Amino acid sequence: MTLTTEAKSLLLSLGVAEADFSGGTMPSYSPVTGEQIATLPVDTPETAAAAIERAKAAFKDWRLVPAPKRGELVRLLGEELRASKEALGKLVSIEAGKSPSEGLGEVQEMIDICDFAVGLSRQLYGLTIATERPGHRMMETWHPLGVVGVISAFNFPVAVWSWNTALALVCGNPVIWKPSEKSPLTALASQAILNRALARFDGAPENLSQVLIGTGEIGNALVESPDVPLISATGSTRMGRIVGPKVAARFGRSILELGGNNAGIVCPSADLDMALRAVAFGAMGTAGQRCTTMRRLFVHESVYDQIVPGLKKAYASVTVGNPLTSSALVGPLVDKLAFDGMEAALEEAKAAGGVVHGGARADVEGDAAYYVHPALVEMPSQTGPVTEETFAPILYVMKYTDFDEVLEQHNAVGAGLSSSIFTTDLREMETFLSARGSDCGIANVNIGTSGAEIGGAFGGEKETGGGRESGSDAWRAYMRRATNTINYSRELPLAQGVTFDID
Ligand code: NAD
Repeated sequence: MTLTTEAKSLLLSLGVAEADFSGGTMPSYSPVTGEQIATLPVDTPETAAAAIERAKAAFKDWRLVPAPKRGELVRLLGEELRASKEALGKLVSIEAGKSPSEGLGEVQEMIDICDFAVGLSRQLYGLTIATERPGHRMMETWHPLGVVGVISAFNFPVAVWSWNTALALVCGNPVIWKPSEKSPLTALASQAILNRALARFDGAPENLSQVLIGTGEIGNALVESPDVPLISATGSTRMGRIVGPKVAARFGRSILELGGNNAGIVCPSADLDMALRAVAFGAMGTAGQRCTTMRRLFVHESVYDQIVPGLKKAYASVTVGNPLTSSALVGPLVDKLAFDGMEAALEEAKAAGGVVHGGARADVEGDAAYYVHPALVEMPSQTGPVTEETFAPILYVMKYTDFDEVLEQHNAVGAGLSSSIFTTDLREMETFLSARGSDCGIANVNIGTSGAEIGGAFGGEKETGGGRESGSDAWRAYMRRATNTINYSRELPLAQGVTFDID
């Protein structure tokens, strides 16, 4: 069976209508073989505007449904995802080039966030706050916000939608999703799965969740609409630089989940075996196409000659291959653009004095697919391409001497997503996690930079955009807060002792 027929049969089995993925004008490719697997009808700014109108109408009803009942819909979504896990996971592998375990893992994240959101639907708490006025009570209430626009990247084609949608739904908001133009099929499948949950749920308005297919132009229709109070945009910092100011200019709210340039520090006291395994997996897994992929590694001079030969060995022996037909750790890059970006970065690194190990194109599945051997680059210092994210499997390794200096270096890049330190020294560990330590949204000890759990708030600082999604109190961004003061006394104490002569 070709990937085209396999994708078609999965889509149909998941409940997507054939007209939604064939006969249109937007091609969709599988990075696994480079073959075109579908042609989708696309949305226009006009159809996007109509979707926003429909979502606004849905909001009027959905906001009135009690939150625990809204949670029941998300519980059903979790059930439907469990039932469709194999098929959706496989489609993720075909469309995003992930290994079967990564494809299934992504669907498991969707299930996990549903479970989390069901509990959350009974915990949308506000505070009661001490008031300075006698006979008064002051409290906070949290209300649904309105239409949530979700713009997502190709590399987590379904999990990011679920992080946003599970929370948005329990918070009382409809969702309009503009998936990456590189991964539209899994979006249609996810919507079909949600539709099955909706069919089993009594009391949801029409158009609670909609998908718009197209490029950034369609995302822009959401970004510029004053009727979409929250834009949750995941993708490159380049995209965030455009989207962020536009949403701010209309006083909208945004959750920006942008690029990362994540680093690890290997200290003298580190468990070196553990560090090696964590670094190799975090830097090469998913072919370096995770926002949390480890891209920079600082190694103390006393252990450099143990870590770097170990890494070279791991890089030389790692298997690169078709994720669907082999057990290779490293699958394809998403497309030619990603491959060109990697080649350019490696050239730049060489020009800046870097010594490159690996990095060549691998001959897998012919010319239309882009497989590479991951690259390990020993750099004399943090210069050239090291300070920017290249969305490919390149790990820049640098030697350090002084702990305070390495902390400075660690933080001296634009992005601020994920970070980790490998140490058994309590002082180094606590310093790394302290106010003068890592400036990232995620700071780990003795584990790699990737693999965040849904229970924590996910996101990063600086050029990563500052947004938080998923667990902890990330739900607050999806609601509006009202501070309420109630006077149950017979007095009306006015500020500054003002009185009116009205008796
Ligand atoms: P991308 O920026 O090319 O595209 C992301 C999404 O933004 C797509 O849906 C695209 O159509 C849309 N878009 C692009 N321009 C737009 C515009 N002007 N207005 C509205 N929408 C627009 O990113 P990508 O190549 O799909 O994904 C890789 C990038 O995403 C990497 O930088 C990676 O680090 C980042 N990423 C970040 C996170 C995170 O949580 N921080 C998660 C996954 C990926």
